Amino acid sequence: MKSRWSDEDTRGLGGLDLLIYASRLVGAEPSLVLWSGGNTSQKVTEPDLLGRPIRVLRVKGSGSDLKSIVARDFPGVALEPVLALLERADMDDQEMVSYLARCLQEPDSPRPSIETLLHGFLPFEAVIHTHADAVVALTNNARGREVVQEVYGKDVVLIAYRRPGFLLSKEVVEGVRAHPRARGVILEKHGLITWGGTLKEAYGATIDLVTQAEEAIRVAGRGRRPFGTPRRKALDAPVRRDLAVALAPILRGAVSRERRVLLRYDDSEPVLEFVSSPEAPRLSQVGPATPDHTIHTKRLPLFVEVEDSSDLGALSEAVRGQVEAFARGYTGYFEAHRFPGATLLDPYPRVILIPGLGMFTTGKDVRAALIAAEIYHRTVWVLGAASAFGPYASLTPKEAFDVEHWPLELYKLAKAPPEKELARRIVLVTGGGSGIGRAVARRLAQEGAHVVVADLDHPGAERVARELEERHGAGRALGVAMDVTAEASVRSGIRAAVEACGGLDVVVSNAGIAPAGAIDAMALADWERSLAVNATGHFLVAREALRVMKAQGLGGSFVFVATKNVMAPGKEFAAYSAAKAAEAQLAKVLAIEGGPSGIRANIVNPDAVFRDSRLWSEEVRAERARAHGIAPGELEEFYRRRNLLGVPVLPEDVAEAVLFLASDRAAKTTGCTLTVDGGVRDAFPR
Ligand code: ZN
Repeated sequence: MKSRWSDEDTRGLGGLDLLIYASRLVGAEPSLVLWSGGNTSQKVTEPDLLGRPIRVLRVKGSGSDLKSIVARDFPGVALEPVLALLERADMDDQEMVSYLARCLQEPDSPRPSIETLLHGFLPFEAVIHTHADAVVALTNNARGREVVQEVYGKDVVLIAYRRPGFLLSKEVVEGVRAHPRARGVILEKHGLITWGGTLKEAYGATIDLVTQAEEAIRVAGRGRRPFGTPRRKALDAPVRRDLAVALAPILRGAVSRERRVLLRYDDSEPVLEFVSSPEAPRLSQVGPATPDHTIHTKRLPLFVEVEDSSDLGALSEAVRGQVEAFARGYTGYFEAHRFPGATLLDPYPRVILIPGLGMFTTGKDVRAALIAAEIYHRTVWVLGAASAFGPYASLTPKEAFDVEHWPLELYKLAKAPPEKELARRIVLVTGGGSGIGRAVARRLAQEGAHVVVADLDHPGAERVARELEERHGAGRALGVAMDVTAEASVRSGIRAAVEACGGLDVVVSNAGIAPAGAIDAMALADWERSLAVNATGHFLVAREALRVMKAQGLGGSFVFVATKNVMAPGKEFAAYSAAKAAEAQLAKVLAIEGGPSGIRANIVNPDAVFRDSRLWSEEVRAERARAHGIAPGELEEFYRRRNLLGVPVLPEDVAEAVLFLASDRAAKTTGCTLTVDGGVRDAFPR
C-alpha cells in the first residue's frame, strides 16, 4: 500500500489539524476503513476547566466518517480518569459510556468512539485503528494464527476475537506491555492497531504492516483464481441489465414486506466473477470480514439459488421464495441469540447475490444501499484473499449477532435524523423542470422522497435534480429527459427510476401544455398536440408506472395534475379542456383498476397558477385576456378576484395538495378531485 503522507502538505500543521489530516488519509483508502469504521487518536495537553494543563485524548467520535472528518468529530477525553480504569477487572458498556461522558472536555461533543479506552490505555502519542482488508484476510481463514506468525513474526501482537469494550482494551494494552518491540496489534477477524510517537509514525506503521500482508496475499494467491473457474458464464451486459430492471421491482416488493427499502444493482467485474463462481454459494454464507460491517450488510447475504438466471419467471419465483426463507432464517438467528433489550431489526437481506446477474443491495435510502454495496465489494476481496491461505473463517453467528445488535454499535446509525413522511418512497414527477412540477418535486423531496424529475427540457430537469441533491444529499434526485407523448421516451424515463432506486411508489403526472384558440379557427395539429400531451401523455406514463407498481406489490399512488377547466371549461380553450377531461377520466378508471392492488389515483384541479409557469406563455396570456375581454396585464388580477377567497394560487399551494394525496395521510382516498383554485363556484366537484 502506498503511503499518502506528504511532508509538504503537513508543514505547519499541528494538534487537531494534523489529526484531521492523518485521519482523512486513512479514510481515503477504502481497503483500510469504510464509512464509520476505524478510528484515530492523539494525546495532547490542553487546559482543563480551571485552566490547568492536563493530558487529553482527542479521539474520533462514534459514527463519524474518517474520510470527511472535521474538528468537532474529535471529542476530548481527560486521560487521567481513563487511565485510572486500568485498575479495574471489568466494566460494562453502559457504565463505560456514562464514565466517558463525564471525562469530556466539551460536554456537548459527540460520544467518543466505542474503542476509546483502547486508544487511551495504549501509552503512545498517536494511535490508528483500521479494518485493513489485507490484514483481516490473514486472520479470516482456518490457518489464521499460523499465517499471522509467518508474515509478521514478533512484529505484531495477535489478540483473539473479542467484541470491543473494556476487556478487549485491557487485553490489548497487556499484550503490548508483554511485547514492547511490537509495531502493531492484530485483532483477530477485526483489524489492525498501530501507534507512534507521532501521527506520521503511526500512519507509516499501518502502511508497512498492510503492505507486508498484501505481499503475503500476492504470494499465496499466485497462479490461483480466487473463486475457481466460473460455473456459468455471466449474462451479456445488455441482457443482464434488462433482466435486472425487470427483476428489481419484484425483488423490492419481496424485501419491503416490513418496511420499504431502495435497491441498487451492481454488475461490476469482481462481483460478477464471484457470484458466478462455484465457491460463492458456500463462501458467501460464512460471515462478515469485520464485525462493524454487520450493521450495514447483516451477517450474511442472500445467495439466490436458481437453475437458469436468464429466465425471468424462474428468477422471480426463486427470489420471492428465497427472500422469505432468508427472513425466516434471520428471525430464527435472532431468537437463538437474542439478549435482553435486543430488538429484531427488519429480517430481510441487505445484500442479494444472483449467479450470472450480479448483486442487489438494499437500504432505507440510496446512500445506505450504496454503503452496503461498497462494503460487500471489500468483502468479496477479503473472501478471495483469505481463501488463498486456507478455508475462509469469520465470526461465529453468536459473535456476529452480538455486534449487529449491540446498542453501542447501533448508536452509529441512530445519529441519523428521524425519517420523514415520504422517506423510502420513490417519486416520479413529470414536467418537473419548472412551475408546478418543480414545486412538487421540491416539496416531496423535503418530506424525504427520492425524486425522479422528468421533463422534456432535460437540462431543466437536471437543474432541479441537482438543486434537490445539494439540499438533501447525493442520490436523492435524478433528472431525466421525458417526452410523455413518446412511448419509448416514457419507458426509458421510468426505467431510469427503477435503475436508480429499484422501483416506483408515487407518480405525479403533471406535464402539460395549454393551446388556446376558438374551435372554428383551430388547426387540427394544435388539437392533436393537446390530446397527445394532455391525454395520451398521462396514459403512457400511467401504463408504464402501473406495471412497475404491480410487479412490486406494494401499492402506490398516482396524482394527476388536471385543471379547474375539467369542471368548468372556458371559451377558446377546447383543445386544452377536452384533453384534460380525458386525463381526469383516465385517473378515475385507474382508481377503479388499481384499487384491488392498493394503487390509488387522485386528481388535483388548480386554477390560474401563473408563477414560474410555462403553460402561461405570452401567447396564451394574450388569448385568455381576449377571451375574458380584458388587457393581458390585468389577467392575474382578474383570476385572483374571480375566486371566492380572492387569493392568487401559487405552485406551492398545488404542491401541498399533491403531497397530501401522495402520502399515507390520504391512504383511504382514491378517485378524488381536490381543488386548489381559491374557490371557483362553477368548478366545485360534483
Ligand atoms: Zn474496529
